[in-house]
Amino acid sequence: MLEAVVRASPDARPAENIRGIAVSEGLVIGRVRVIRDAVARVARKVVSKEQAKDEVTRYLHALKASVMELDALYKQAEKEMGKKAAEIFVFHRGMLSDKSLVEPIRKRIETESVCAEWAVQQAFTEIAALYAKNTNSVFASKVNDIHDLSQRLLRHLMGTQPAKLSDLEEGTVIVARDLTPSQTAAFDRAKLAGFATDLGGKTSHTAIVARALGIPAVVGCQALLSRVSDGDLIILDADRGIAIVHPSPEQLEEYRAIIEQKRLYRLSLTDVAALPAVTQDGTSIELLGNIEFAEEVPAVLGMGGQGVGLYRTEFLYLARDTEPTEGDHYLAYKTCLEELTADGQSRPLTIRTVDLGADKYTQSRAEVPERNPFLGCRSIRYCLQPRALPMFRKQLRAILRASGLRPGVIKVMFPLISSVGEFRQAKYLVNDAMEDLAEEGLAFDPDIPLGMMVEVPSAALMAETFAREVDFFSIGTNDLVQYTLAVDRTNERVANLYTPTHPAVIRLIRDVIRSARRHRTPVSCCGEAASEPDFALLLMGLGLRTLSVTASSVPHLKRLVRSVSIAQCERIARQALSFDSEAQIATFLRDRARKIVPEAFDGRTAE
Ligand code: PEP
Ligand code: MG
Repeated sequence: MLEAVVRASPDARPAENIRGIAVSEGLVIGRVRVIRDAVARVARKVVSKEQAKDEVTRYLHALKASVMELDALYKQAEKEMGKKAAEIFVFHRGMLSDKSLVEPIRKRIETESVCAEWAVQQAFTEIAALYAKNTNSVFASKVNDIHDLSQRLLRHLMGTQPAKLSDLEEGTVIVARDLTPSQTAAFDRAKLAGFATDLGGKTSHTAIVARALGIPAVVGCQALLSRVSDGDLIILDADRGIAIVHPSPEQLEEYRAIIEQKRLYRLSLTDVAALPAVTQDGTSIELLGNIEFAEEVPAVLGMGGQGVGLYRTEFLYLARDTEPTEGDHYLAYKTCLEELTADGQSRPLTIRTVDLGADKYTQSRAEVPERNPFLGCRSIRYCLQPRALPMFRKQLRAILRASGLRPGVIKVMFPLISSVGEFRQAKYLVNDAMEDLAEEGLAFDPDIPLGMMVEVPSAALMAETFAREVDFFSIGTNDLVQYTLAVDRTNERVANLYTPTHPAVIRLIRDVIRSARRHRTPVSCCGEAASEPDFALLLMGLGLRTLSVTASSVPHLKRLVRSVSIAQCERIARQALSFDSEAQIATFLRDRARKIVPEAFDGRTAE
């Protein structure tokens, strides 16, 4: 988290609070730098047949230059922001290599005898319109990328330079209608204190990049741009999703105090990482890390995590153009395993089999996208269809081979299991892969635990049955909340309804834990809610002893665990279950968490 404090006298104008969507935490007081869309506009220029040939050549050169530029941008972004955020440029690169986009532009130049700029602009405008019309938010969110790409090609054709964004002053808060991935990659990060945009949602690229960089960001502010000018004083409260323009002296003083308190709290967390996660009454809580890439394992361990509770392996597919081979899978798992056991200790590595579909990967590649991909062929369903079986088998073989390197470390977890048949089918495929490996004389762990995520109500309601079949459960609240409450987790319009404190969600979690206990089936939680101190108290009170969260949340949780007793958590859980509204439960849990770890809060009331 980056918190810059700009020493400045307040503006004379009245303060205005503008609400948006918080996408990466942090507070900052800074000076506004407005970025306006500089759209290159081109006119339709008709050329002779002969000149059209030259236009095609110019177009192909611009295409090549853009691809080279994107390769360089990917490398730079990967180094500075990590693989996940850099994927955006892989998508851009993929589009420019897509014949169905590139060829029609060439043909348009030839058949209509028009200049290359016009053909490019027309083609991209048409695609953007198609994407914008699509009700699927995954496609709609790509309009900004299409715009970014078309501007890149046009710049190369017109020989113009990209807007310079590297001359920022320290403590700058960028305010824009929206930001393209290329713009965000070009900022001088040492000077950039925060972003605020009028457009965008929780999963927009600005949000992903802001999180990857650890920079406070508020998106979806709707009317911020029209209220600010360059140099205006602004408070960006990304914890609560608010931008305060022209803050008053009192607001500035209040925020400076909060920023200082948060700084001290963060400093205090560095000592906590090395301490055991044991409650005041002596119960050990296992704190594990959620990762998307093998390279994140050292961060998990550095933050005091005791292993990996969720490895989202679909990112092996999302970060590249081609499907990973069995060798790619194996190498990734081996890398994690080696990091986790480097000092001779045996720390768990829970590998979740690919969770593709819904908003990840398949829709952008499908000839006919699904109308409702979150209720469609995603996750384990996708893997079990005949077309995807070879891909799934490849992954299972790689996991098993890696398990042979150090038996007892790797566990396999299947996502989105909604019926017993699915789990049995997946288990059958694992056994099949074991037989093949045995025939080939390759080592594997024959007792590798096979578990499932509980992230749909049908699985939670059938937990008693599943508990007899599986080796472990991990509750995935991110999806469990969306499917229990019928609230799309990526749709900002219903974001206010997406709440893990809904009594229905809590009852499902309680019942899963009870069933697991009866059958001595280990159970954990790996959804985002587990990283909220309020919700973690409830989970411990309901009986969970293993929580898996992003690396940066581990020290926060450790501090909480060490400050509370299980008896206290159980009382909290009992009381929470007695309320019938999500708002009551949320307020109650927040209040309790505030009392237990006041230093984790900043003294403000929750909004
Ligand atoms: C979940 O659904 O809670 C989960 C951890 O999986 P993902 O966020 O990858 O869907
Ligand atoms: Mg999930």
